[in-house]
Amino acid sequence: MYPIIELKNITKVYNHGKRNELTVLKKIDLKIERGEFLALVGPSGSGKSTLMNIIGLLDRPTQGRYLLNGREVTGVNSIEAARIRREEIGFVFQNFNLLARFSALHNVILPTTYSRVLGARTTAGNLLASVGLKERLETNVDNLSGGEKQRVAIARALINNPNVILADEPTGNLDSKTGHGIIDLLEKFNKAGVTVIIVTHDKEIVSRARRVVRIKDGAIAK
Ligand code: ADP
Ligand code: MG
Repeated sequence: MYPIIELKNITKVYNHGKRNELTVLKKIDLKIERGEFLALVGPSGSGKSTLMNIIGLLDRPTQGRYLLNGREVTGVNSIEAARIRREEIGFVFQNFNLLARFSALHNVILPTTYSRVLGARTTAGNLLASVGLKERLETNVDNLSGGEKQRVAIARALINNPNVILADEPTGNLDSKTGHGIIDLLEKFNKAGVTVIIVTHDKEIVSRARRVVRIKDGAIAK
């Protein structure tokens, strides 16, 4: 079996104005196996979010290759990247990124593909129940607490039955007890087979991860 994610020699260079290049990722080699629960750690500015965005096909490397599920995705166009994101990857962000003024249920249904729209309401309702929000389906997300918002975001991340969840500091805006509840949930879905990659500064979360990858100055620390 091939790894679910394989990064080969990934480099990312940002241009901060003419003749001012910043190399944010330096020749990253990383293999992630199906079913892993991996913590990505490192100082602020070390390149963690850049790496997550490349893995999530939200950004492209300047150099290097990326294989997802054994398939070369390095050069896919933006339409294909969007399709792969929708079908293969769920995202959870520090600031939740929910659609304001809409219900929890609507937020979870939003990323579904047209072909699945018929069952989407039921699936979204079941997912919200599985994250403990059975009674809040119709609640406007603006009226939910931070922890509840992140639960909605996790349900949304799971709606298209992804292979991978990418969570970039998902507990960064939550108190530690609420944050650990969020990690419990991610762990539950990991046990059900979803590969989970979490960027975090929380020592307890790091200690619960089965593998820790440290990034320092854009490279994997050995
Ligand atoms: P981390 O998530 O580890 O804090 P980031 O990946 O967000 O680090 O950022 C790494 C470096 O790349 C920082 O110096 C940041 O300023 C720079 N950077 C991130 N995104 C961009 C961008 N879109 N354009 C230019 N520079 C960026
Ligand atoms: Mg970051």
